[in-house]
Amino acid sequence: MVRVGGGLEGTEPAPVSVQTMTAGYTHDVDSCVAEINRLAAAGADVVRVAVPEKKDTSALAEILRQTRVPIVADVHFHFKRALEAVEAGVHKIRLNPGNIQDREQVNAVIDACKDAGIPIRVGVNEGSIIERKDKQKRMEELGKFFEKTSASGTMTSKHAHLLALIIAKLEEYLDIFHERDFRDVAISCKSMDAAFTIAAYQEVSKRFEYPLHLGVTHAGPKETGAIRSIAALSGLLTQGIGDTVRISYANDPVYEVEDGLELLYSLGLREREGAELIACPTCGRIQVDLFTLVQDVREKLASEITVPMKVAVMGCVVNGPGEAEGADVAVFAGNKRGIIYVQGEKVANIPEEEILDRLLAECQAFQRDVLDGTVKLGEKRVEIVPPDPIGELGSGFDKIAAGEVDRTTPLTVRGSD
Ligand code: SF4
Repeated sequence: MVRVGGGLEGTEPAPVSVQTMTAGYTHDVDSCVAEINRLAAAGADVVRVAVPEKKDTSALAEILRQTRVPIVADVHFHFKRALEAVEAGVHKIRLNPGNIQDREQVNAVIDACKDAGIPIRVGVNEGSIIERKDKQKRMEELGKFFEKTSASGTMTSKHAHLLALIIAKLEEYLDIFHERDFRDVAISCKSMDAAFTIAAYQEVSKRFEYPLHLGVTHAGPKETGAIRSIAALSGLLTQGIGDTVRISYANDPVYEVEDGLELLYSLGLREREGAELIACPTCGRIQVDLFTLVQDVREKLASEITVPMKVAVMGCVVNGPGEAEGADVAVFAGNKRGIIYVQGEKVANIPEEEILDRLLAECQAFQRDVLDGTVKLGEKRVEIVPPDPIGELGSGFDKIAAGEVDRTTPLTVRGSD
């Protein structure tokens, strides 16, 4: 079970969890199970699957039998899919109030979830807000209020009206739940606009006491979607708003999990599992192919290191030692060489082509020491005395200035050659 929310009346809130959604068809049991297990292995706390058709809900029982992570059934258009998913044993239902509105149908889903003891997420998206008969009046009433009180003071009239509709839709929908005394609810109100997402969740957090599922909807490809999602989610999480997050990309959902976890690690909202990689951005002092090395190290650490050690890959010794302070395993590169340190002790001075394997071997050895208790993480303050850039790394900048050292090693980005 994954707890979401809490923190009311003195209770301890659950840690913020990371969700994602499968990209494949739910009715294709083998590939759906494989995808869910891959996402769980990447660190997903909860995985959502779409169940648009009966053949999808029919697959759920077998999918649940072959997976261990909590599964949410995302029901968009037909309430019977929700009833079938509950019957199959899913751990949560997501309803979109824009699509399932009939009161009797919603009541049937609420009753089924109540009997099964599972929660419902009420997920309002800006794209699925249905216009009410009294839309104009409601927008005028609430829109004016939001224009005056928007947290940023920059909300457009269009957004003020949209927020008014979102709040009205949530109030209206949740009334149905309250009438049946069902309060095992989470809320989301996603938009593709990061600033509006922040304003909307701020308002929702003031008005409703339910756990909040954060996300930016149709955020786009990973490259730009990451910025859009992190801008909105970190803005909210640093204000203490949000109980579970889903980053969404038009890409492999494993990236959503990895980036969601990294967001929580970076904000100190979750204890890191696995290695933390620090790497310099490179600059004109570089004399090895650091971009490729960093990517290779990142992939190896992700698959082979499970303890939260700190690993630094630095392009030179100018700022490197200071920036890598505290790293359990570090490499400082020079002129086609690298010097490796383990907890501040220099252990190897090797040519560039040996750096990856040696660095990984040192990380694995360090991991063994941590696991068998020989070393306790964080017990020792790691200070790194910089190597001699000329004598040890052949990259003294006075030699460079004198033209004695070749510093023309080309930088290649993986896949570009
Ligand atoms: S560590 Fe060296 S190469 Fe890397 S950015 Fe800093 S000064 Fe440049």
